[in-house]
Amino acid sequence: MRSRHAVVARPHAGRSLSGRPDTAVVVGPVPRSWQNPFMSRPVHALPKAHLHLHFTGSMRPQTLKELAARHGIRLPESLREQHLLRLTPDERGWFRFQRLYDAARACVRDEQDMRRIVLEAAQDDAAEGSGWLELQVDPTSYAPFVGGLTPALEIVLNAAADASRRTSCQVGIVVAASRIRHPLDARILARLAARYAGDGPGQVLGFGLSNDERRGNTHEFAAAFRIAARAGLAAVPHGGELLGPEHIATAVRELSPRRLGHGVRSAEDPDLLRGIVEAGIALEVCPASNVALGVYPTAAEVPLRQLLDAGATVALGADDPLLFGPRLADQYRIARQDHGFDDGQLADLARGSVRASLAPPGTKARLLAGIDAWASSPG
Ligand SMILES: [Zn+2]
Repeated sequence: MRSRHAVVARPHAGRSLSGRPDTAVVVGPVPRSWQNPFMSRPVHALPKAHLHLHFTGSMRPQTLKELAARHGIRLPESLREQHLLRLTPDERGWFRFQRLYDAARACVRDEQDMRRIVLEAAQDDAAEGSGWLELQVDPTSYAPFVGGLTPALEIVLNAAADASRRTSCQVGIVVAASRIRHPLDARILARLAARYAGDGPGQVLGFGLSNDERRGNTHEFAAAFRIAARAGLAAVPHGGELLGPEHIATAVRELSPRRLGHGVRSAEDPDLLRGIVEAGIALEVCPASNVALGVYPTAAEVPLRQLLDAGATVALGADDPLLFGPRLADQYRIARQDHGFDDGQLADLARGSVRASLAPPGTKARLLAGIDAWASSPG
């Protein structure tokens, strides 16, 4: 953990979308279970793939501070002091998250910044056992600083190829459109992503859809996903974190996903979950994100076992560790401490992340062999 404090929730009057009491934000300690993990085999040594990490949200807190200083930007206090978020699962909570995310994104002003973020994401993932990272980026926000959408994406792809050579973590890119922009913008991004489609590090592997699930009409983004699919890109939209089964069913029907970003609330509808399992749609489950955004009160209440018991393929992810705190290995610690996973079950989770990845077959085979070696090593 890089941060010493978390912003935790305190009940007060009002109701949230989930029906739970609404919450206010106060400062408190990071949950003890994430601070002092009981270790048998170290989870950072468990080979794994990381399939849900956002470009800006991957940033080290110290890097954000340095970028802000370099560009003369004053950060909001919670970013300056590295408070972790614990928000309400309503539009007010999302607004606060978005405001902080935008403040962080505003500090990314040139090619040097963009390259640094990709390299450090790979370095941090490599240090946590990740041998394959799929980093999501919407190049729209950075385009004005580097001469347009195409240079913005090319910088990220080039940095991903470079990071793949310099670290033990290979990096592929998911281009993600935003729900809060016009669906025509998503089509422009899909056409751009299609031009760089590939199946290895430094290439575009998938097409996503991010931002507030409550915004935009999913079916209006279907045309963009068809463009991406024709180029061989995997569909990996967000869905099923802030909204429940009905929204997931729409995303599955309209966008034909290979994986769902989150998808965790499919646990609320056994028929839907069965359909997701039968369709082979993997779920990128990000427990710390779910707690930070108030979807579940505690990490122990994320229905991880329920999803796995139903046969779902799950890949744990960190989402936006800059704001939420825990990085990738911490998600596996949560599975161990809050859900009682033993090392064999953690190895199965890691295998799920590799199998659900878009990595080349050779990379998958190498990581799976490493997982077997970890599981059979002395505990
Ligand atoms: Zn996300």
